[in-house]
Amino acid sequence: MDRNLAINGGAKTITKSFNWPVYDQNEVDAVAAIVQSGKWGNPDCGDEVAKFEKAFADYCGSKYAITCVNGSVSLRLALIACGVKPGDEVIVPPYTFITTASSVIECNCVPVFVDIDPDTYNISPAAIEAAITDRTKVIVPVHFGGLACDMDAIMDIARRHGLKVVEDAAHGHGAEYKGKKLGSIGDVGSFSFQSSKNLTSGEGGIVITDDDELYAMMRSLRNVGRIEGGQWYDHYNPGCNYRITQMQAVLLSEQLKRLEAQTCKRNENGLYLNQLLAEVEGITPLSRGEEITRHCYHIYIFKYDASKFGGLPKNTFAEMLAAEGVPSFKGYPHPLYKQPLFQKKNFMCYAIPETADYSEVCCPVAEQACNTDAVWILQHAMLGEKKDMELFVEAILKIQAAVNA
Ligand SMILES: *Cc1c(COP(=O)(O)O)cnc(C)c1O
Repeated sequence: MDRNLAINGGAKTITKSFNWPVYDQNEVDAVAAIVQSGKWGNPDCGDEVAKFEKAFADYCGSKYAITCVNGSVSLRLALIACGVKPGDEVIVPPYTFITTASSVIECNCVPVFVDIDPDTYNISPAAIEAAITDRTKVIVPVHFGGLACDMDAIMDIARRHGLKVVEDAAHGHGAEYKGKKLGSIGDVGSFSFQSSKNLTSGEGGIVITDDDELYAMMRSLRNVGRIEGGQWYDHYNPGCNYRITQMQAVLLSEQLKRLEAQTCKRNENGLYLNQLLAEVEGITPLSRGEEITRHCYHIYIFKYDASKFGGLPKNTFAEMLAAEGVPSFKGYPHPLYKQPLFQKKNFMCYAIPETADYSEVCCPVAEQACNTDAVWILQHAMLGEKKDMELFVEAILKIQAAVNA
């Protein structure tokens, strides 16, 4: 046992703390002003929600944005508006947060898991194409960690097969693919404002689209099925009350002012860390090609090779790294199809056919990412200084030296 390692009581490599969320008096004043106005709700009381939606749509280069209570409901709004019917299939990756797939179940549809690319951990276009059946309706690419999926290939597949694309951009605020903001490329882009996300109001979500019909439907579903120009107690669609408050809206408007600079900072730090880690044996950052004009590093991911760390298991390595003061984590313990929800088929939904069976599903790349390879550094750490990136590497080298001694 090496007593120098922080996990064994030694000095930490990094002693500063990385704060999240970042805010100042502006956020406090904005929320206080709403509280004092007494106009806390939407859509009857004030227009702060609409103001934020317009600002976010403009920021993304999209025509419309519709806020809602979180980034899971936003996926559900998008899927329903895309016209999925009970029993339809929706293609999703297995290396993502549960609601990318459970929102599909909530729509009475069947999530079909296809594997990720080993270099990017994003959904593999070839695997998507191979999984398409005559029941497939929607593809949900997740821009994992804020790294854009291969959108040209995915949009091409979708158009050839007449499928809709809902981008799960819950990690992707402000990131770009070929100069386009993530979420603005598919039919709908979905974002989360949950507290860990790169733009947050504690909870919240939003969908963006250029399509007039999708916009009208998602807006209606968000607002208890009401329609534009309709009476307050006339309900046309099977929606619910998924509206956010004015307090959230002003908080988001203030946070949005910080997003561009924060995203650039994370992007620069990520590029620098890539450069530094290229020199470390047994550590391989995920690859980012020319088409990634901006990564937002909601998660900075590298692949860990235990053989260069004396056979130290990934999970122990991740614990040691966190103990050294690097905000890091081992990531998902298993691909989504291994979750009891899918293995036990606790769907509470009669529309999902008996033939849907996850017991034999296996996506080897996702399994390897979960079991042995993927280590995450979290977004607030990527808001640090260049010096902090150097210290992250120092912490890795410290562990490597200790376990190889
Ligand atoms: C966070 C997250 C969601 C869900 O967002 P919530 O606001 O927590 O409901 C969906 N997809 C991905 C990939 C996420 O990380």
